[in-house]
Amino acid sequence: METIESIAANTALVRAREGGGRSWKWKEMLRFPHISQCKDLAMNIERDYYSLCVKQPIGKKLFQLFCRIIISEARVALLLCVLSNDIAVQCQMEFIFLLWIRDLHKYLSNEPFTQYQDSMFFARFLQWKQLERSPIMKQTFRQYRLLGKGGFGAVWACQVRATGKMYACKKLEKTHVKKRKREDMALNEKEILQELDSRFVVNLAYAYETKHNLCMVLTMMNGGDLGFHIHRMGSPGLTKDRVRFYAAEVCCGLIHLHQKSILYRDLKPENILLDDNGHIRISDLGLAVKMSEGSLVRGRVGTLGYMAPEVIGYERYGMSVDWWGLGCLIYEMTAGRPPFRAKGEQPKSSEMERRIQNEHEEYGNQFSKETKDICSSLLTKDPTKRLGSQKSGGKDVKFHPFFQEINFRMLEAGRVDPPFKPDPSQVYCTDVQDIEEFSTVKGVHFDQTDSFFYSQFNTGSNSIIWQNELIETGCFEELNVFGPKGSASPDLDW
Ligand code: ADP
Ligand code: MG
Ligand code: MG
Repeated sequence: METIESIAANTALVRAREGGGRSWKWKEMLRFPHISQCKDLAMNIERDYYSLCVKQPIGKKLFQLFCRIIISEARVALLLCVLSNDIAVQCQMEFIFLLWIRDLHKYLSNEPFTQYQDSMFFARFLQWKQLERSPIMKQTFRQYRLLGKGGFGAVWACQVRATGKMYACKKLEKTHVKKRKREDMALNEKEILQELDSRFVVNLAYAYETKHNLCMVLTMMNGGDLGFHIHRMGSPGLTKDRVRFYAAEVCCGLIHLHQKSILYRDLKPENILLDDNGHIRISDLGLAVKMSEGSLVRGRVGTLGYMAPEVIGYERYGMSVDWWGLGCLIYEMTAGRPPFRAKGEQPKSSEMERRIQNEHEEYGNQFSKETKDICSSLLTKDPTKRLGSQKSGGKDVKFHPFFQEINFRMLEAGRVDPPFKPDPSQVYCTDVQDIEEFSTVKGVHFDQTDSFFYSQFNTGSNSIIWQNELIETGCFEELNVFGPKGSASPDLDW
């Protein structure tokens, strides 16, 4: 039954999502530091064209503004570059386009880039960078309802006061982390997330600490997790087009991770989240591990029901375990229950292990021929024979007939419409009062080693995500006006 408390928490969240939400003091919060306060930054910032003018969204905008002034010159130079390249006529358009872009960057990264660094646009860029580095703390955000809980983290909806942007904040209690010696694990999760940049994996926007918690601020996924959609929205299981679409996006996410030598190890419905539009992202990288070239890892981690036979068997393993996980996921989305467990059944661990290692999963009539075939290929006990585990990696999986109707290029560009769009007025989570709070841990004392670890964790804003947040919420546009006489701030004296 929905309680008043739950209704109130959901209403507050839906309102916050609907729009605005900037604090009335937002301009004050985002006031540019005087240019003289950016001197250190100017000295130390790496003068790399690609990073400053292409990769960083605000950097790119300011460089473009600067280029508008020198555009005619650039155009001529571009033409000359392209002509001098003597491109054969039979080349495909796309190739020519890539060459164009390459030559354009080559031109811009010389003279124009040098001039840019002496312009008011670059001075402004430094001001934005200085703001980006402001310390992040509890007061940076407004907090809304609890969204979910896992082994270590409670995840809360939150909103940046200055911009109104919604995020999900995963909080790890310092006492819990210390008591259970999970410092390495927490840092590992944060560092892996920080390194990733994929539309199929949640982004890390901020990492900071409060008196009691370590916080990771992540892409807000309003559509709930797949576990919720499979089991809590009427009869268990999903329609075939949804199963195929989610499986394809998860497949792209896994390939991205594997390309960066990251093994995920925790694939299960609760860790796959839906956004406003119905696209999914892989989340919860707490068990992910960075592999060194050509090596394998060992370690019995994951959630028992979804562990591959080689994990249960204490063998060395590699990317194969994630493909097993994808098999479990497709199976569960289709059947409405995981492969080795009947509905509502809670077998003992030893029994689960036995089934995973020795028994073959059964296929009911919800499984079409292709669905059954991809599941049994992914759920092959021998990791060397499993689909996806061969040299070509994820390519084999993409080419399976189950995915015949998926255009992976379009999917990777975010240009395929999801088959299901979450209702913006609904909150797809368990009622607040049904999510247990963590018990408090007593008798934990902190020392120097802890402070060192917290400082490694507390890295503040993630540049690219932060800059995108300012652009997306319109704050950049509103604040990026230039002072009289075309100066970045009223007086530009250093
Ligand atoms: P744990 O590592 O403890 O399992 P998770 O990162 O999986 O923690 O988060 C627990 C639950 O919180 C998830 O199953 C999901 O329901 C919810 N959740 C996690 N991240 C987000 C997010 N970015 N947006 C919305 N809900 C989230
Ligand atoms: Mg989890
Ligand atoms: Mg986890």
